[in-house]
Order: sequence, then C-alpha cells, then structure tokens
Amino acid sequence: MRRILIVGSGQSGLQLGLSLLRHDYEVTIMSARTAEEIQGGRVMSTQLMFHPSLEHERAYGLHLWEEETPDTGGFGMSVAGPDGSRAVNWFGSLPGHAHSVDQRLKMPRWLEEFENAGGRVVIHSVTLSDLDGFARLYDLVIVAAGKGDLVRLFDRDPTRSVYSAPQRALSVTYVHGMTRRPEHPDVDALRFNIAPGGGEMLTMPSLTTSGPCEIILYEAVPGGPLDAFSDVRGPQAHLDRALELMREHFPWEYERCGDVELTDDRGVLTGAVSPEVRHPVGRLPGGGLVLGMADAVVVNDPISGQGSNNAARCAAVYLRAILDHGDRPYDAEFMRDTFEAYWDYARHATTLTNMMLRQPPPAHLMEVFGAIGAYPRIADRFALGINDASSFDEWLFHEDLARGYLAEVAAGRA
Ligand SMILES: Cc1cc2nc3c(=O)[nH]c(=O)nc-3n(C[C@H](O)[C@H](O)[C@H](O)COP(=O)(O)OP(=O)(O)OC[C@H]3O[C@@H](n4cnc5c(N)ncnc54)[C@H](O)[C@@H]3O)c2cc1C
Repeated sequence: MRRILIVGSGQSGLQLGLSLLRHDYEVTIMSARTAEEIQGGRVMSTQLMFHPSLEHERAYGLHLWEEETPDTGGFGMSVAGPDGSRAVNWFGSLPGHAHSVDQRLKMPRWLEEFENAGGRVVIHSVTLSDLDGFARLYDLVIVAAGKGDLVRLFDRDPTRSVYSAPQRALSVTYVHGMTRRPEHPDVDALRFNIAPGGGEMLTMPSLTTSGPCEIILYEAVPGGPLDAFSDVRGPQAHLDRALELMREHFPWEYERCGDVELTDDRGVLTGAVSPEVRHPVGRLPGGGLVLGMADAVVVNDPISGQGSNNAARCAAVYLRAILDHGDRPYDAEFMRDTFEAYWDYARHATTLTNMMLRQPPPAHLMEVFGAIGAYPRIADRFALGINDASSFDEWLFHEDLARGYLAEVAAGRA
C-alpha cells in the first residue's frame, strides 16, 4: 500500500486525504491544530464555493451540509456613483448553487471523518527541518499548509506572478440578521460592490457554527477610505466599523442591516494576502522532494472568491494524477506534471483575480459592467465565469474578444 503524507488540514489537504482513503492509500495528515482548536478558533475565510467545485466534494460524499447551507443562486454587482447612488447595478444567475460552509464547521468534521475512515491524524506544526525525516518515511509528501511558513520551500515563479505585495487590506465580519436585497427577494446572492478607487465590499450567505448567516468582506485598496480597521479593538467595534463604512460607501447594502449582530466573537478577521504563484517542487536539504498544493503554491486575493474553489479542484486533479501513476515513483517529473494539470485551470482563476485587483480597473472590464444595464443577458455570462473562470478565456480576458462580444450583443447577434 502506498504511503502518503499530507501536511495541512484545510480544504485541499483534507479533501485529497479523504478521497485517497477511498482508493486504499495509507494516508497521514499532519495538522497544526486539533479539531477543537479549529472549531473554537477565529474564522479563516469566506469560503464560498461554486457548483463545479462542490461537485468534486459530492463525488466523494464530502458535502455534508447540503441541506442546511443557504443556496447562493445569483451574483449582484453595484458600482457606487456620486451621492450614494449606484452608477451600475445588475444581477446575474449562477449556474447551480454556490455554498459557503464555515471552515470551523467543515474541517473538524472532515478530520473526524478522515480518522473514522482509517486515516491517521498527527497534531503537529511541521517545520522545514521535520520534512527531511518525513520524506524518507513516505512514498509521497504533499504540502497543503496554505499560506504559512512552509511556502518558503517553493520558489516564487516570477513568470506567473503579477504582484509581489498585497493589493487589498481585508476585513471579514460574520453576521446574523442581514436581509436580502429587494431586487432579488427570492434568491440568496453573492453581492459585489465597488467604490471606485477605494476598493470593494462583498457580501455572501454562509453556514456558520450558529446556523445560516451572511458574511461581509471588505477588499480595501491600501491607504484608501475602506482601509479603516487597523485601529479597531474588539469584535463589536469591528462590526460597528464595518457598518459605518457601509452606510457611507454602500448605503443600498446598509439598508439590509437594520437588525444585524455578530454571529460570535470569533466571527471577525483582518489581514492581507500577497498573490503569488510558486514552483511546485520543494527540494529538501537531504535530497527529498515534496509537492506543493493549492494555496501553498498558487495564492490569490479573495476578491473573486476563487481560493477554496481552486483548492477543491487541485485536490481532484492531484487525486487523478496519483491514481493514474500506479506504482511508479513520485519523482520531480510526476510532481511538475501534476501541478501543470492543475495550473491549466488555476491560471484562469489567477488571471480573473489579478484583473479584478487592478487599479484603475481595465477599461474593457468597466465597459462590460456598464453594458449590462442595457443588455442584462451579459450578467449571466459574467456569473458563469465567476462560477468557472476558464469560460472567461473565451471573451473577458482578451480586450478584443470582450469588445467584439459587446458589439455582437448590441447588434442582437449574441
Ligand atoms: C478573507 C478571506 C476570504 C476568502 N474567501 C474565499 C471565498 O469566498 N471563496 C474561495 O473560494 N476562497 C476564499 N478564500 C481563500 C480560501 O480560504 C483558501 O484559498 C483556501 O482555504 C486554501 O485551502 P488550502 O487547503 O490551500 O489551505 P488552508 O485552507 O489555508 O489550510 C491549510 C491548513 O494547513 C495547516 N497548517 C499550516 N501550516 C502548517 C504546518 N506547518 N504544519 C501542519 N499544518 C499546517 C493550517 O492550520 C490549515 O489547517 C478566502 C481567503 C481569505 C483570507
């Protein structure tokens, strides 16, 4: 039986570990935290996952919160104009529902499922020097430890990395009591609001430890008016600041917040992500090799909600590669090929995210947003790309194709 070590107990590591057990691999997961610590800890993400990614979980019976999770069926976009008005406002339908399950619920349950299915969990915060010894004990070592220290194993790939510093200051607030927008009273939606020059505010439904909730995510341009959480102390003050900013910059969303309260004192988070693509093969001092996975090698800002989706796809691609590889050694060529198969999708999510981070935004992107007012069917095509970023390669990622498509729509031919 082939022995595989996965370092990290997040979306990618646990999904891969659980699915490998079904194929009779001997799998160990090393987790820096116990299930109880994760459950009782701070929120880590907004983790909205779209239909294609959820299908990877469903294929292995891992989407265990199907019934109780709010069905996110749409994508609403607004751009603030002067005086609290909206210069742009539209709504597109997502093909299939998206779900967000608080990682504080999901990961502890997956750890339990993993142990029940015969996997071994070791609670240990793995260091670079530990890995040398582990590499000799396992046929394959995969580093799925997210954005932590172990990423130093993997060199930055300058040809695939657009930024070298965070482009947004992030602030997350989990709340109960936020109502739906009146323009889509029957549909829960991911809402994307832009304050030109200042950044964005997203809201999305989720399932948290105390039931269904809504998450507010600020994506503030550093130093701009939405970058306003550094002096906030305590969860209630964090919520108050999130609401003050909303009243000033996104009053139409503030209308939804008449009866809002924090889900819990750990339901707030601030931070920043430096978007980066890294080489996937880590070489250890003793000569062993490790394969990087998901955020450890391709990390995107959460502005476009792609990271957990990428992690799920990465787990599915790595699983397929491991199964197809049979008994052959997991050498550097296997590792590079496996990553390239993942990058074939992840490059689209990365292009989308980097495009949405640009300040000022690309002109053709704003032309698309503007055109949707006159031609609402473009909204559904845009929502399709949020759901599966590879479809944007057929139009939005290329100025000429995007403008050509807008012209076709205007002429009634698309
Ligand atoms: C504010 C914010 C909002 C986001 N919103 C979304 C969204 O709406 N949709 C979306 O798709 N993505 C979103 N993301 C991104 C998403 O959360 C990540 O991309 C995803 O969780 C990455 O999964 P992963 O398995 O690579 O790593 P992680 O989920 O980070 O898991 C890594 C695990 O490894 C463990 N670990 C770390 N170091 C060690 C070590 N040395 N030894 C042992 N264990 C270790 C950690 O404790 C953790 O459990 C968001 C991210 C942020 C920061």
